[in-house]
Amino acid sequence: MGLRLNGTQGARPREASGIAVSVKKCRDCELVFADPQPIPALLSDHYGVPPDAYWSANAFEWSPGYFAEEIAAAKRLLPFRQGMTALDIGAGLGKAMQSLTHAGFDAWGIEPSAPFFQRAATRIGTERLQLAAVEDAHFEAASFDFITFGAVLEHIYRPSAALANALHWLKPGGIIQVEVPSSAHLMSKIFNLYFRLMGTNYVTNISPMHTPFHLYEFGLTSFERNGRINGYEIVEHLYQVCDIYHVPKALHGPLRWWMARTNTGMQLTVYLRKV
Ligand SMILES: [Zn+2]
Repeated sequence: MGLRLNGTQGARPREASGIAVSVKKCRDCELVFADPQPIPALLSDHYGVPPDAYWSANAFEWSPGYFAEEIAAAKRLLPFRQGMTALDIGAGLGKAMQSLTHAGFDAWGIEPSAPFFQRAATRIGTERLQLAAVEDAHFEAASFDFITFGAVLEHIYRPSAALANALHWLKPGGIIQVEVPSSAHLMSKIFNLYFRLMGTNYVTNISPMHTPFHLYEFGLTSFERNGRINGYEIVEHLYQVCDIYHVPKALHGPLRWWMARTNTGMQLTVYLRKV
């Protein structure tokens, strides 16, 4: 597709400088990835920041509406019984765990970042929350009815292996919810066209060397193909437009309408059933 710098390429991309990496898109499954994949010496180089630096003040407040749509979908797809087990992979501040508990799930979580884990522990304790990454956490096979990966899979170097772990912990017939950046996002295409018109070969997709450290963008086909390898089917999916940045406010309405109509919003959510 082009090159991605280790920082913002900005409105004057010809004046930007930094270290660049090639960004590629699989023609078969629409996965977007860096090639070669730059890997930091320590993961804490990316995620060791304190929560206050990463999230704004109101991000710490919990209300029952948080994660409500995803919980409603999980309850419908399972179907739900009181006390069913749930696991939040990348629990962050523990808010989804709070909502899952509030909704009648027996909720567990893992969080790989020590500062986030410590902050979450002050809110919800450490009985059901582990300081662990999905790659090295341990649970019994078939422990959970529902597992959620919210804003996680795009940060993981081997997302298929992470899904395989989750599927091992999931009961047969259980549901995994995954929310990821969509590789079909219209705004990326517009910004890439801008970079091309400015005489550069930069692309805006992913951010493997700077915050928010997105290593991948996914298409629905990425999960269709991966489901054959890992043993799941996609039972539901939706695209979400989300917030629009870097374009005049007057264009937000038409862009929002077009992205909703053409499934080219920022986020893709899939619900996967273990087969
Ligand atoms: Zn592919």
